[in-house]
Amino acid sequence: MDADVLVIGAGPAGLCAALRLLQLGYRVIIVERQTTPPGNLGEAITGGVANILDFLVVSDLLDAVPHHRALPTRLIWSSRTAEQRPANDSASGTMIARAQFDAALLSRAADRGARCLLSATVRAMARDGEGMRVNVEHGGQHQTFRVRLVLDARGRSAGAQNRIATAPPLLALWCEFEATSMPAETRVEALADGWLWGAPLPNGRYRVMAFCDPATPRRHAPSQPPIWLKAALARSHLFVQCADAVAATELRACAATPSISEHAWQDGVLRLGDAAFALDPLSSSGVEKAMRFSLQAATAIHTAFTDNASAPLAQTYFQQTLIDTAARHCFWTERYYAQAWPAADSPFWQARAQPFPVQTPSATARTLGAARRLLQMQTDRPPSATAIRADTLAHALLAPVFLSQASTWIELPCVVDDRVQLRAALQHPNLERPLAFVEGYDLLSLLHALVEQMSLSTLLSQWSHRMPARTAARIAGWLLNKGVLLSGSESLQPAVTTASALSHR
Ligand SMILES: Cc1cc2nc3c(=O)[nH]c(=O)nc-3n(C[C@H](O)[C@H](O)[C@H](O)COP(=O)(O)OP(=O)(O)OC[C@H]3O[C@@H](n4cnc5c(N)ncnc54)[C@H](O)[C@@H]3O)c2cc1C
Repeated sequence: MDADVLVIGAGPAGLCAALRLLQLGYRVIIVERQTTPPGNLGEAITGGVANILDFLVVSDLLDAVPHHRALPTRLIWSSRTAEQRPANDSASGTMIARAQFDAALLSRAADRGARCLLSATVRAMARDGEGMRVNVEHGGQHQTFRVRLVLDARGRSAGAQNRIATAPPLLALWCEFEATSMPAETRVEALADGWLWGAPLPNGRYRVMAFCDPATPRRHAPSQPPIWLKAALARSHLFVQCADAVAATELRACAATPSISEHAWQDGVLRLGDAAFALDPLSSSGVEKAMRFSLQAATAIHTAFTDNASAPLAQTYFQQTLIDTAARHCFWTERYYAQAWPAADSPFWQARAQPFPVQTPSATARTLGAARRLLQMQTDRPPSATAIRADTLAHALLAPVFLSQASTWIELPCVVDDRVQLRAALQHPNLERPLAFVEGYDLLSLLHALVEQMSLSTLLSQWSHRMPARTAARIAGWLLNKGVLLSGSESLQPAVTTASALSHR
């Protein structure tokens, strides 16, 4: 083999996977079609990116590239009145120079041993025994590489024929101009037929973007999208002063429809980032989600590479993680669209505020739909929080505690020591997903103590041998609130259990 993996695309997804696999000791080739990473859309980055950079030991990188930090947000969304939201910490409200950010990641990967081929194109690839044979055109020459896996991180352009839309069609239209006329803040505004986003870029320009149904600008003025954008800005409250800039600058457009790849790991090719799932830009979290998924994919790859027999488990973990990420994002997006002021009577908002009926009868579509429905059920369930009154605390501590009968154990692929392994996980109607670990502690061994009847205080004291007392109390409190642990003390009965018990009396 010439390398372990060949990554196609030097965006955040491909580079994050490359850096993680280099950390784990693998040999990596990166193929990027441009002379330097173009840094696609996605300058507004969410707080979690900093944690991922820390994990990859490149945390200095955010400060090294031009950026704005802690921009406040002015928002017209749930009502027609503008609200001002401060950045809640220094990591939120960050705008980075994406091309420089991607280039800096690429240079770190090169420093750590990745072979980087720029202005290069993959011309052909095919299975070759246990690995893949990839033909790359680079500097006017063709080179063939033998690798164990190909990582497709080409962004939204990857494998369009194998993608299914997870929401109605969405078009993004945008233009940029000198930032002098706009304040240093991010602005978001819901309009009757779409929404607007604007923010200053680190290069001194200001970008304003409109998101709408692709048919809307065509209906408004066929073949003249700038006319609709100008009209949309002119009738807005927060962007009215940008309307004239539209005529003076180049208008750009791209499809922004969320989608998921049907075959994210197949035939020696594994898809990452937007090539695996493209999110609705509403959350401005595409870069973070792409990077996070690459870390999880790297764990799956490491598992498959170190133990052939674990390859199916690694693939299951990869697929479950993909579906979980996409389903959670669809669910979050629908609810956010539903909160917008025009949601009650505008077709644009109504179509997005409800589950999108994915038409393709594929396994991916089915599992995505099931995961999405499960999230809905969790949310519809009444809250089960309990308040403990001080006078009942002693009684609560001495009362017996036991595991809810609605709990069951299943085997779940989990990440343990950088590899995917099967672990016992607890399933319960009040839990969003099966749980194998709480705060890093193996739940099965924590709850195993309850084979003997014991009081809450004895349970806490047993756990305190393994963890700080404060952590033990927090975990027990959380499990009691969720109704996973039940207490003989009424003061600790979760509201939902108490309510149903009362209704049966
Ligand atoms: C309108 C819009 C606005 C967005 N705004 C935000 C935002 O504010 N914040 C945010 O976090 N996310 C945002 N996103 C999402 C964000 O752009 C993506 O989620 C993120 O860029 C995904 O990273 P990636 O590495 O998967 O793909 P990309 O960033 O698209 O990188 C793909 C790389 O592959 C290269 N490539 C493509 N084809 C080939 C090929 N054939 N051979 C070799 N190389 C190739 C490209 O040149 C590029 O370097 C937005 C998306 C859209 C559509």
